[in-house]
Amino acid sequence: MSANLNPVHENMPEQRPYKRVLLKMSGEVLMGPNEFGLHPETVARVARDIQTVIDTGVQVCVVVGAGNIFRGVSGASQGMDRTAADHMGMLGIVINALCLQNALEAIGVQTRVQSAIRMDEICEPYIRRRAIRHMDKGRVVIFAAGTGNPYFTSDTGASLRASEMNCDLIAKGTKVDGVYNADPMTNPDAVRFEKVSYMDVLTKDLRVMDATAISLARDNSIPIAVFNIREENNFANIVKGEGTFTIVGD
Ligand code: UDP
Repeated sequence: MSANLNPVHENMPEQRPYKRVLLKMSGEVLMGPNEFGLHPETVARVARDIQTVIDTGVQVCVVVGAGNIFRGVSGASQGMDRTAADHMGMLGIVINALCLQNALEAIGVQTRVQSAIRMDEICEPYIRRRAIRHMDKGRVVIFAAGTGNPYFTSDTGASLRASEMNCDLIAKGTKVDGVYNADPMTNPDAVRFEKVSYMDVLTKDLRVMDATAISLARDNSIPIAVFNIREENNFANIVKGEGTFTIVGD
C-alpha cells in the first residue's frame, strides 16, 4: 500500500531535466536471483537501463557496493581485522565495477572506471576533473573502491562523489520502490512515503542510506530518489520524475 500513487511527483525539485545523475546500487542488485556473486543477465539489464538514460542526454555516473561479494563488517564479526576486511570489501567493489563496465561496453556505451585505490593496470585513478570531462563527452563513469577508506560504506562513497561531481540527483536503486514506515517485505501494512526529509531519515532511522551518507547529501542539498531497480526501465522513469519512488530532500 502506498501513501500516494500519483505517478508524477509534484514535490520533485525543479531542476529537471537533470544534467548529471549518480546511480547508486548495492552489490546485491548485481547478483540478481543468485545468492552470491554476479548474475550476467541482471548486469546486462542494468547496463541497458543506464544506456536508456545516457541516450536522453543526461550524464550518468555510477557507484556500486559489494554486498554480493564481501562486506567488511561481516569479516570483522568473524574475527578479522576491520581495516583488512574493509580493504577486501573495496576490492569487491572493483570487481563489480569492472563487470558493469564490461556489460556497458558490450552494448556500445563508453565508460571509464575510476578507483579510489590506485590500480593503474586495471582502471584509472579517481581524478575529479577527468571524471567530469568523461561525462561531458557522454561516457559513463563508474566510481570504484568506495571512498578508498575503511570504516566507510559505498553509500557514503556515492554521496561524496555526487557532491564532488555536482550531481543533481542521487538515484538509489534498491529492492523496494521507496522509503516505508516499516519493512514492506515483512509488514503488509507498511506505507510508502512520497517525500521524506533528510532529518526524518536520520532521526527515525529509516535506513535509506547510512547516516554519514545522508548527512553529506543534506549538506550539499542533493536529493535522493529511492526506487526499485529490479524493474526494467525504472531508472529512466525516475530521472523523468515518473513512476514510483520516494524523494529524500529538505
Ligand atoms: N568499503 C569501505 N570503504 C568505502 C566503501 C566500502 O571500506 O568507502 C568496504 C566495506 O567493507 C563495505 C564493502 O566495502 O562493507 C562493500 O560496500 P557496501 O557494504 O557499502 O556495499 P553495498 O551494501 O552497497 O553492496
